[in-house]
Amino acid sequence: MGLLALGTALEWSEARKAANHVRDWGIEGKERDALLWGDEIEYLVVAFEHDRRRVRLSLCQAEILKALAKDEALSKSGGCVAELQKSSKLGQSLPTFHPEFGRFMLEATPGKPWSINPKDLLDVEPNMKWRRRIAKDHMAENEYPITLTTFPRLGTKDEYIKPYFPPSGPMLRSQFVPDEIANPHIRFPTLAANIRSRRGKKVEINVPVFKDEKTPSPFKDPTVDYNLHRWPEDDDVRNGAAKDGYVYMDAMAFGMGSCCLQITFQAKNIIEGRKLYDQLSPLGPIMLALTAATPIYKGFLVDTDVRWNQISRAVDDRTPEELGEKPLNDDRWRIPKSRYASNSTYISQDPRLRPEYMDPDLIVDERLKQKLLDGGMDDLLATHFAHLFIRDPLVIFAEDLNELDPEGGNHFENLQSTNWQHMRFKPPPPDADIGWRVEFRSMEIQITDFENAAFSIFIVLITRAILSYDLNFYIPIPRTTENMETAHIRDAVTQAKFWFRKDPLPHHRSSHASRLNGNHTAAPLPTPGPVEDEYRLMTISEIFNGSPANPASPSTNNANPLDAPSSAAAAAAAAAAGGGGFPGLIPLLDSYLNSLDLSIQTRCQLARYLDFIRKRADGTLWTAAKWIREFVRKHPEYEHDSRVGEGVVYDLLKKVVEVEEASAAAEGGVVGWEMLGGMATAEAEAHSVIDAAGA
Ligand code: ADP
Ligand code: MG
Ligand code: MG
Ligand code: MG
Ligand code: MG
Ligand code: MG
Repeated sequence: MGLLALGTALEWSEARKAANHVRDWGIEGKERDALLWGDEIEYLVVAFEHDRRRVRLSLCQAEILKALAKDEALSKSGGCVAELQKSSKLGQSLPTFHPEFGRFMLEATPGKPWSINPKDLLDVEPNMKWRRRIAKDHMAENEYPITLTTFPRLGTKDEYIKPYFPPSGPMLRSQFVPDEIANPHIRFPTLAANIRSRRGKKVEINVPVFKDEKTPSPFKDPTVDYNLHRWPEDDDVRNGAAKDGYVYMDAMAFGMGSCCLQITFQAKNIIEGRKLYDQLSPLGPIMLALTAATPIYKGFLVDTDVRWNQISRAVDDRTPEELGEKPLNDDRWRIPKSRYASNSTYISQDPRLRPEYMDPDLIVDERLKQKLLDGGMDDLLATHFAHLFIRDPLVIFAEDLNELDPEGGNHFENLQSTNWQHMRFKPPPPDADIGWRVEFRSMEIQITDFENAAFSIFIVLITRAILSYDLNFYIPIPRTTENMETAHIRDAVTQAKFWFRKDPLPHHRSSHASRLNGNHTAAPLPTPGPVEDEYRLMTISEIFNGSPANPASPSTNNANPLDAPSSAAAAAAAAAAGGGGFPGLIPLLDSYLNSLDLSIQTRCQLARYLDFIRKRADGTLWTAAKWIREFVRKHPEYEHDSRVGEGVVYDLLKKVVEVEEASAAAEGGVVGWEMLGGMATAEAEAHSVIDAAGA
C-alpha cells in the first residue's frame, strides 16, 4: 500500500460530508428507538516459562486471530464448536475479536451490541468471561489473555518478548523496543514512523520514578544507552530527552501498547448524543482515577497510577512550532494538547451550557469552520469538527485517494480515529444502519471481568440517569483538563480532590422532574451566579457516595427533586440550599433503579456492582494500581530501589491469573480480596447458576 506525504490538508468534500450527516440525521430527525451500547476489552497475551520463572509477551496476535476466524467460519457453516453450543445457551452471538497496535494485544467486543434493558445487563459479565475463555482456548497452554494495562517489563534489556527481536528498527528507531512489537499491518508501523518524522524526533515519555527507600537520588534511568549511533534519533538522549528523576521511554508502543476499557453508546438521535457527550465528559478523569491500574513502566515502580499521559506522549506528533518551542513559521497554530488528550469541546445545544464552560485555549481551523457553517452546521458542532481537523491525517493510503468519493470514503473516519480524546462523538457511518454514537474512553482495564462488567454497567446506568433526570455535570473544560492530571497522582482515589459540579440536579420544570416529584415543586431555576460558584473540589468518595450537608447551614429548601434515598435527598436539598452537601452518583443510581420495575434478582445483581464501586470510591477496596504496588513492595526479591525484576513480574502475573480465575470460579474474596472484596464471589455464583440453567 502506498503512503503519501504528510500534511495533506483535509479537502472540503470531507467537511461537507460532516455537514451532510448533520442535515440527514439531525435536522431531518431520523430517530432510533433501539438504544444500544457495547464494551471493548483489550488483553495482553503473556507466555509463562515456569522452569525459568519468567513471563514474556507473546507476539501471537495474528495466529490467534487466524485460529479464531477459522472457528467462526466453522460455526457459520453449521460446524460443531463447543463454544457455539454455549453461545446458544446464553442466547448470545459469538464475540468479535480485533487486532490492536501491539502484536501482543487482542481486543474482544460482544458479537452484537447490548440493549439497555437492565435484565440484559446481567449478561455482560458472563459474556466477558466467555470472551476470555474463547481467547484462552485459542492459545498455547502456557499462554494467557490477561487484562493488565501494561506489561511491567516492556522495553527492558531482557528477552521480554517471544519470539525475541532486538530493538532499534527503522520504523520506531527505539532503543528499547523492536519494530516487530507492533502489529505488522502497514498502518501501525506507519503511524509510529509518521508521528516520529512529523515531530522531527522520537516521542518522549518521561514518567516520574517512585522514590522508595533505596532508590538512587538523583535518579538517572540506568537503562538508557547514550552511546547508540544507528539512527539520527539516537541523538535524542544526548540532547536531554531522558530527564533526571524519570523513567524514559521513546516509542509509540509504550503508550498504544496499553489496554483500556471503552464503552460506546448509540443515542436515540443527534440531540441526545450531543447531550451524552457533554455530560459524560466531566466523568472521564474521575473514572480514570477510580480504575487506576498502571504503577510500573519498563521494570520500575513509577510515581503515577494511570496510563493516560504516557499514551498521550507516545502519539504526540506536534512539531516544535506547534509546541511553542519555536516561533510559528511553517505551521498554522500553537496547539496546547496532544492528539491523545482530554476533550476540548462541549457540543450539546443545552441552554445550561454557559459560554464560560468552553475552553479558552481551543484551536479551530476557522476557514473550515466557516465552510461547515455555510453548509448548514450549527456553531457548536462546526467548532467541534473544525477543532478535530487542525490535526494532519497520519496515514493515508493511495487507494483511498484513487477512489475518492466525496460522500463515502473514509478520510473523515481516518482523521477521527487518530484524534484520541477521552470522549468520541461518532457520526453514523455512511453505509450502515447505525445511529449517532458516543464513546467513553478514559477507563483503565481491570484485572477481572467482574470489575470490567461493574464499571461498564456503572457507565450505562449513569447515561440512563443523565437522560431520565436531566442531570447537569457541566464544569468549565479547563477544570476537566486539570482533573485529568490529578487522576495521575498516586492513589488519587484517597489522596486527591477533583473539580466537580456542586449540584447536578435539574432546576427547571422538566416533565421528568415533575413526574419524579409527583408534583410541581421542582426548585426554580436559580439566576446564574459566577461560574466559579457552581463547582468545588471533592474527593472521589464524595462524588460517588455523597456528602452530608453542613448541619449548621440553613435548610431553606424542602424540595425533594428526586425520589432518592433520604441521605441523597437531604444532600441534594442541602446542595440546592448552599449547604455543601452532594447527593453522590451511587445514591442517584440507586434512586434511578428504584424507580424501575426490576425483579429482585436483577436489582440485587446490579446492587452488587454498585456496592463494589461504592467501596472502591471510599477506599475500602484498593485500585489495581495500589494492589500491584503493594505486591511488589512486599515481594522478597524486591530491594526497595524501585526496580521490578523478572522474578517479581513472574510472580505478579501468576497472581493476576490466579485472581482472575478465582473470581471466575466463585472463589473471589480470598485471592485479591483487597481489590474485590467479597463481591466477585456472589456474582460468580450467580454466573454458575446461569451456566447450570443453560446446561
Ligand atoms: P472502535 O474500536 O472504533 O471504538 P469497535 O468496533 O471496536 O470500535 O467497538 C465499538 C463498540 O460499539 C463495540 O462494543 C460494539 O458492540 C458497539 N456497537 C456496535 N454497534 C453499535 C451501535 N449501533 N450502537 C452502540 N454500540 C454499538
Ligand atoms: Mg475497538
Ligand atoms: Mg480502537
Ligand atoms: Mg481497542
Ligand atoms: Mg473504541
Ligand atoms: Mg476500531
